[in-house]
Amino acid sequence: MKKHVFNAGPCLLPQEVYEKAIDAIRDFKGTGVSVLSISHRTKEWEETMNECRALWRELLHIPDTHEVIFLGGGASLQFLYVALNLLEHKAVYLETGVWAKKALKEAKGIGEAYAIASSADKNYTYIPKGYEIPADADYFHITTNNTIYGTEIKEDYDSPVPLVADMSSDIMSRPVDVSKYALIYGGAQKNVGPAGVIFAIIRKDILGKVSRYIPTMLDYRTHLDKESMFNTPPVFSIFVMNETLKWIKAQGGVEAIHRRDVEKAELLYGEIDRNRLFVGTAEKEDRSIMNVCFVMAPGYESLQDEFMAFAKERGMVGIKGHRSVGGFRASIYNACTLEDVQALVDCMQEFEKLHA
Ligand SMILES: *Cc1c(COP(=O)(O)O)cnc(C)c1O
Repeated sequence: MKKHVFNAGPCLLPQEVYEKAIDAIRDFKGTGVSVLSISHRTKEWEETMNECRALWRELLHIPDTHEVIFLGGGASLQFLYVALNLLEHKAVYLETGVWAKKALKEAKGIGEAYAIASSADKNYTYIPKGYEIPADADYFHITTNNTIYGTEIKEDYDSPVPLVADMSSDIMSRPVDVSKYALIYGGAQKNVGPAGVIFAIIRKDILGKVSRYIPTMLDYRTHLDKESMFNTPPVFSIFVMNETLKWIKAQGGVEAIHRRDVEKAELLYGEIDRNRLFVGTAEKEDRSIMNVCFVMAPGYESLQDEFMAFAKERGMVGIKGHRSVGGFRASIYNACTLEDVQALVDCMQEFEKLHA
């Protein structure tokens, strides 16, 4: 049976990308050496690195003021990088969920940092608005897509201080005005590749302003200077990320991908709003187009396990909600198709008929 994969991460990748990865494991670019064993100091590898950087620049229209680097350690290690490299006097955070809280925790270990607004009062089901960003902060940190709660900041904020964004789970799902950000980072495994590599898009002039010693490997400048080749980069993960970016470009770029992502999200939210058995958990205006969270409607709570089993029998994978929200979460990242979403919608409709 065909599986419809809605995993929150590592995410589904396009079939073509899996094929390219298999080919390269056998033979990387006709070198007779597997991509798993190729030296990262070869000309062939350097070409892939350059191509990947160039695709990032092209797809997101990254201006010359910014550079993109690739590192290991996960987005979680970036929480620390951000504070080490940018926090001198104080930093402010927007607390929109577990990931945002974890980012803030790391900053608190480095210096003065606090949340200027939080949606914890309603279990992070909305994006706080109407707060003031202090003009004397070193930076303002946001999490643009809250993977666990299914809320998303869908616009590029104007910030009086350098804006730092964790875009792990919505990068390349919508056009972004990179010039408005001092730093954008994220793990590749939610929307642009496999686990094992992070991307960081850095405005070069924000670095070198803190007085502390920054350990070599945790200093963005080390990796900028060496074009992400200071030490062995996560070669295979970068290879697969590059293939994923090529696929995005072939789809018509981020603008075209965005139209598709919106169409998929509207189809699924439309069904959640129509179907008597289900109800969405996030505020409508802040709904994520990547992670769709829903629960059984009041009065139907007892059907939750039955629907889970029903959906599983029909090939749905990974729709169990995160433990802090419960219910269901369908992650409909770029590689998820309209057909996958339609299959889930059909499932919800069939289930409704059974219980009408
Ligand atoms: C998954 C996720 C992270 C953590 O990523 P790791 O690479 O596992 O450390 C951080 N932020 C957001 C928004 C995420 O979705």
